[in-house]
Formats: sequence, C-alpha cells, structure tokens
Amino acid sequence: MGIVVDSSARFETTVPVVVIGAGGAGATAALAARSAGAEVLVLEREAAPSGATASSSGMVPAAGTVEQKERGIVDTPQRFADDIQAKANGCANAALVAALTHASAQVLEWLTKEHGIRFELVEGIAPGHSLSRMHALADRGGATLLSSLYSALGTQGVRLESSAHVTDLVVDDAQRIVAVRYRRNGKTETVGCKSLVLACNGFAGNKALVAQYLPDVRGLPFAGHDGSQGDAISWGAALGAQLADIDGFLAHGAVVLSQRLPLPWSLMTEGAVQVNRDGERFVNEHEGYSESALFVLAQPGGLAFMIYDERVHEIGLTMPNYATAVASGVIKRETILRDLAEQLGVQREGLEATIAFVNALAFDDASDEFGREFRATQMLLGPYYGVPVTGALLGTEGGLAIDAAGRVLRKNGSPFANLFAAGGAARGVSGDAAGGYLEGNGLLTAVVGGYIAGNSAAALVTG
Ligand SMILES: Cc1cc2nc3c(=O)[nH]c(=O)nc-3n(C[C@H](O)[C@H](O)[C@H](O)COP(=O)(O)OP(=O)(O)OC[C@H]3O[C@@H](n4cnc5c(N)ncnc54)[C@H](O)[C@@H]3O)c2cc1C
Repeated sequence: MGIVVDSSARFETTVPVVVIGAGGAGATAALAARSAGAEVLVLEREAAPSGATASSSGMVPAAGTVEQKERGIVDTPQRFADDIQAKANGCANAALVAALTHASAQVLEWLTKEHGIRFELVEGIAPGHSLSRMHALADRGGATLLSSLYSALGTQGVRLESSAHVTDLVVDDAQRIVAVRYRRNGKTETVGCKSLVLACNGFAGNKALVAQYLPDVRGLPFAGHDGSQGDAISWGAALGAQLADIDGFLAHGAVVLSQRLPLPWSLMTEGAVQVNRDGERFVNEHEGYSESALFVLAQPGGLAFMIYDERVHEIGLTMPNYATAVASGVIKRETILRDLAEQLGVQREGLEATIAFVNALAFDDASDEFGREFRATQMLLGPYYGVPVTGALLGTEGGLAIDAAGRVLRKNGSPFANLFAAGGAARGVSGDAAGGYLEGNGLLTAVVGGYIAGNSAAALVTG
C-alpha cells in the first residue's frame, strides 16, 4: 500500500467521488454521495463483495426513530450517547458520538423513504442499551442489509467494480488526493477523483498490524473479513494522518470458529451459561461479548462450551446465525446432562454441579460471585443443548481520526482537503480499551458514518 506524489499527473478517467470498499460503510457512503448529486465509483477488492458487514447481525442502533415512536418508546440522541459513553468509560470521542447519534434516526428514515430499505425495531433490549433501539430489515442479517444497499446503488446508477484491489493513493504536493491506483484482472489501472472515501475497514485481518497495535489480543483467532488488512491506516500513516483509539477492538466470546460464526449473545442473556472443559463457569456471561473473548482464550485449550435448554434454543432459532449453526450440526442436544457432557468432551461431574448451582441461584433470583443475576424464569431444564466455541477477534475499533463530518485529520488536527473515512477504517465510538464496544457500534459507524462521509465527499464536488 503506497502513496505516490505526483502533482502533474493527468488521468484518462476521473470520477468525482471514489469510494474504496463495498461493505456497509462504502455502500452507504456511495448511496449518500449519489443521492446528493455526485457521480460515484466504488472499488472493491473481492470478486464477490461482502465485507464484515455481511457477517454481522445487520442490526443498526438508532435513537428517536419512527419505529420507536410507533411503539411508544421515547429515545433521544443524548440517551443513546450516554449508553455509548457508559460502555466506553467516557472515552469515546464526544464529537463523533454526537454526530452519529444525532444522525442515526434520519439515516434510517432516508434509507426507508428514499431507497425502500425498510427497517423494523428489533424486539428486546440489547445489552448495554437502556431501551430498544436496534433496527433491522424484516429478513434480518448483515448479508440482507448489504444486498439491499447494493440494489439501491444499482437503481441509482452507481458503478461498483469488484476484484478491484486499490494499492496506491496518488496525491499532489498539497496532499490532495488526485487519483487511486488499483489492480484488476492482472492489470494496474488508475482513476482520477475529486473526493475519496476510505471505507476499507480496519486491520484485524493483518497479523503484523494486530501484533503491533493490539498485542493483548494477538492470541485470539481471527473470525472477521479477510479484506480487513489495515490499508486505510497504512495510507493514513504514510500521509501523516492521526490514528486514534488504536487499542480498541471488537471480539466475541462465542464463535463457532470453523464457520467464523459468532452466536447471538442473546442466548446468554436468555439464560445460557458458558463453561470450560472442567464444566466450570469462569465469567459473568451478561457482560459484553467483546471483552468475554479474552476470558475464553484463558481457558484450557482456549475453548468454552455454551450450555442451555430448549427454551433458549427456540429463541435462538429466530436469529440467522444460530439457525446456520444448527443446520451445520455443531449444536448438540441431549436429554440429560451426562450425555451432553460426553458428546462435548466436558467433565461430567463439573457440568452437573454447575447447572445445579445456577438453577439454585435462579430459584432464589440470586447473583453469583461474578455478579451475574439469575432469574427463576431462566432455570435450565432438560433437554439440554451445548456447543463448543472460542473467543475470536472480529474487528478493530481504532483507526484514522476523523471529525464530525468524516474528514480525515492530520496529526496536528487539521483536516485533509478531500479525504474522508467511515466504518472500520476510521476510529469508532468504543474508546481506546478492551470492553468499550457497545453492541451495534460497528454498524452505527459503518451505516451512519458512511452516510455522513458520503455527503461530505459529495459536497466538495457538487457545492
Ligand atoms: C462476524 C462478525 C459479526 C459482527 N457482528 C456485528 C453486529 O452484530 N453488530 C455490529 O454493529 N457490528 C458487527 N460486526 C462489526 C461490523 O460488521 C463492522 O464494524 C462493519 O460491518 C464494518 O463495515 P465496513 O464497511 O467498515 O467494513 P466491511 O464491511 O468489512 O467492508 C470493507 C470492504 O473493503 C474492502 N477492501 C479492503 N481493502 C480494500 C482495498 N485496498 N481495495 C478495495 N477494497 C478493499 C473489503 O474487501 C471489504 O469488502 C461484526 C463483524 C464481524 C466480522
């Protein structure tokens, strides 16, 4: 990944707004820029675009939406911002949090009204949120969200070139981006641009960068999208951009690694427990799923087992990732715990003692030594289900420092003239430490951040 300085270069083709990456951030940025009147080109390295966005739950948090109002839920950007900051220990960038939370409802309304991408409010309250504010398409899942965005791009006449791996940014003496170079079908091509949006996610898939910036999590297997190679921060660093919140990350403590499949955390909040090979619990499973990954990594073999019952299983079946796991055969079901322990390779006495103990706590509506509160309605009763899981790294939350308009900032705080970033390419709103990730932060910065960056990029060329 390089920067080429060339003030006199002329290009056969120039497109006013170029977007690198066709995940949630890139697709939304492109749609926003096109809606604002700019001609847009999206360049995507994969032959079949998907990004981390397609693996996500597709749930976008937003405050003050029509869907919330219809249910009588009174939410505000401030309340949403307070929840984000509570999880991030007050360390999330306040200007960015304000920009994203204020725009969130408007962006979902815009997608619905202008582009026919219809969101509904997801039942229940996601961990760390003070009320229901997750929104998803009827079909659920990130793949559906992304394909709806692609359809809208097609309708709007936006060109998306796949198998187009951007390698270099061409800049003039004033560090204005004048073109990008990319490899396609074995050839190097160059396209000029007036505005550039970096939407190529973070560096979680790049072992060397993870070891450099996130040494504490380098032991975690990677279960994100392989396109997350840190190209945005490599270009940014070469240009003298500021990197921010670089210690932040998104991990998950219940991943079916063979399929890179994070299981819905609501299984935990609905009553599932996590045990190690000895059948012992080791964490409050109601803490966030991101920080739980490191607890799982610390168990023998870096393995844990989710244990639950028919009631929890039925709830899981309503969620795409869980249904996929069931279809793949990794979920085991047995009438009695002894047989489940044998199937999973978990120590039987340990597992039986753990389930008896948590059921006793549930009977009394009591808490355990990790601070988890158990409820009588969530006692675990046979038949039992179990699945082996690992902790895994899904993404990074640090990235290029941006302002509230999505403009990439230099180390001295001044913005580059025509360089924008959104989604995982930019700093997120999870602060700079483990455990700052609030559910939905990834898609908030991708979808809402993409909208903001796309509009800003378009304003440069249409205004
Ligand atoms: C398994 C999984 C589950 C998740 N679940 C959730 C969830 O439930 N809720 C939530 O909010 N977040 C979730 N996240 C995080 C969320 O998916 C991401 O934060 C978000 O999708 C990032 O969007 P993006 O557009 O920045 O990146 P992506 O969707 O990854 O898109 C970036 C694109 O850029 C392309 N690219 C990279 N480099 C180049 C280059 N040099 N040239 C051209 N193209 C390039 C990549 O191939 C990729 O397609 C999850 C992540 C994973 C991996």
